[in-house]
Amino acid sequence: MTRIANLLGRAALLTEEGAVDIERASDGRFASDVQALYERWEEFLDWAGEGSHTSAELPAFEFQQTDLLSPAPRPTQVFGIGLNYKDHAEETGAALPERLAVFTKYPTCITGGFEEVCLVEEGEVDWEVELVVVMGRRAHRVADWEAWSHVAGLCVGTDFSERRLQYAAGRQFSLGKSYPGFGPMGPWLVTPDELTAPDDLALSCLVNDEVMQSGRTAEMIFPVPRIIEEISAVVPLLPGDVIFTGTPAGVGRARGRYLRAGDTVTCSIEGIGSIVSQMIAP
Ligand code: ZN
Repeated sequence: MTRIANLLGRAALLTEEGAVDIERASDGRFASDVQALYERWEEFLDWAGEGSHTSAELPAFEFQQTDLLSPAPRPTQVFGIGLNYKDHAEETGAALPERLAVFTKYPTCITGGFEEVCLVEEGEVDWEVELVVVMGRRAHRVADWEAWSHVAGLCVGTDFSERRLQYAAGRQFSLGKSYPGFGPMGPWLVTPDELTAPDDLALSCLVNDEVMQSGRTAEMIFPVPRIIEEISAVVPLLPGDVIFTGTPAGVGRARGRYLRAGDTVTCSIEGIGSIVSQMIAP
């Protein structure tokens, strides 16, 4: 039952009373770098579950939304899944995938969930709300039934995509989705056990006040356990690695409406929270 935040570069446990600094509360047993926590995830969960951090000597503190940086700021690998919702595959005119469609978002595009995102000159920048998985254990050749036990937690992400580059020269999914700021994730990490139904969460994307996307993660063609099974059959997933799991229908490309300077993109997932990106001119 744990929520972890990256508050201005320091790992914090979120409690009813507020945030608790993990390095200080653990007397240095765990470092302040949230990315390093995933290397010792089970040990960390044991410590967090003991409740020894709730000390009167170290009172919980309040924080601001803008303090929240990415819960996995420096993943070794970042995977993206294409066409993973039937209604989105249909709106793109593509056939339903028979195999998992995988690309990468290069790790330098990862940011916290409350940043300005720079548009691209002559570009068509689009929104995609996505459930983001952060790995808590190395996973190599993991079967779907054991996949959830390798997950540290879930976040909200936006898979910003510049469509001209994405579809240029054959297909350049990885480049078109990796401009700086194109991988916001947050607002914090929620462990799967905190969610009653981690395989069925409502997710939505608003541009300004208009609902552009609204779906449920239960509609994924390849659910989280299958994604982990399929990727880990080829590539070992490492602690702290990140997977953007695909987006439901309602993207700008299908609407003929791309993002403009001044637009606000709000992505939300039930039981996790919301992230908000401000689009600014190139
Ligand atoms: Zn996507």
